[in-house]
Amino acid sequence: MSTARPPDGVERDAPLARLTTIRTGGSADYFARPRSAGRVVELLAWAQSASLPVGVIGSGSNLLIADTGFKGLAIKLDGHLTELHFDGSTLLCGGGARLPRVAARSAEAGLAGLEFGVNIPGTVGGAIRMNANAYGGELASVLEWGEVATPDGVERRAPERFEFAYRRSNVAGYQVVTRAQFGLRPGDSGAIKANLASMRDRRKAAQPSGIKTFGSTFKNPDDPRAEGRTAGQLLEAAGCKGLEHGGARFSPKHANFVENRGAATTADVVGLIAEGRRRVGDLTGIVLETEVQVLGEVDQSLWGAV
Ligand SMILES: Cc1cc2nc3c(=O)[nH]c(=O)nc-3n(C[C@H](O)[C@H](O)[C@H](O)COP(=O)(O)OP(=O)(O)OC[C@H]3O[C@@H](n4cnc5c(N)ncnc54)[C@H](O)[C@@H]3O)c2cc1C
Repeated sequence: MSTARPPDGVERDAPLARLTTIRTGGSADYFARPRSAGRVVELLAWAQSASLPVGVIGSGSNLLIADTGFKGLAIKLDGHLTELHFDGSTLLCGGGARLPRVAARSAEAGLAGLEFGVNIPGTVGGAIRMNANAYGGELASVLEWGEVATPDGVERRAPERFEFAYRRSNVAGYQVVTRAQFGLRPGDSGAIKANLASMRDRRKAAQPSGIKTFGSTFKNPDDPRAEGRTAGQLLEAAGCKGLEHGGARFSPKHANFVENRGAATTADVVGLIAEGRRRVGDLTGIVLETEVQVLGEVDQSLWGAV
């Protein structure tokens, strides 16, 4: 561990489980809630000079924290970096702004384009990093630019410079999406709100709600042996629906959702994921790739090479 003194305001040994939707895992050695891009740059420069890894926590809705914690600096955006500002049909928001709020506020303002965010319980920064989408909505189609902080300063990237692919972008270590600007389409506020409501209803019918989960565990495979089936359908075919491991189980409603039944550890979750992957592999030969991101060290013999 580094002995270099952290910048003022950096906390030590901060529990992270409560900052994730699955609610498992340990503490970060260092933790900060920067309220400006300049402060993010300062933190990244310190962490890099101290050879500490950096982990960003958005809403923690696609994140698994190791039970042994994270031996680095965890950053959660705060203050101005969670705010929204409309200027005509342009929306400027902080990387820490929550997508359901962004979708609702845009609908309120009679602006279309970000409706798909209503069902994605993540932040704008997390959504850019993960290239999140739902119901055919595309972040890249409305994104004008994203601001990325690095140890050397901030830069603006146009959508094509993020190299978006399925649940992927090129946002890497020591890079934090601090702000983003979207170009939305003026529309009828009532119709946009009705669209949000129908998306919420469709989601409620298809996926479990009110559970501790990180959403989709595995990416849908791009493999002919899947014969067009999603990861959830493959897990179901392999008998994983409702399967339990310690305090974790694959949801009886949607097999690709892992839920924490109350007292699960990250080891329980990782063990369950490994079992799901093994069963689908035995059935089809496909090695499922995880969508959920990990902070810290988990058992690599279970997690595999993905
Ligand atoms: C119930 C439920 C439903 C979901 N439905 C969908 C869906 O329909 N479509 C979909 O795509 N996803 C879905 N997800 C997954 C998740 O919400 C998305 O991946 C979301 O984009 C993650 O954002 P986050 O802020 O929570 O990121 P986190 O989970 O906190 O982090 C995810 C990754 O992004 C990085 N990151 C976070 N913020 C930043 C930042 N500002 N700068 C740089 N890196 C950052 C993290 O370090 C980590 O690597 C769902 C999750 C749940 C729990």
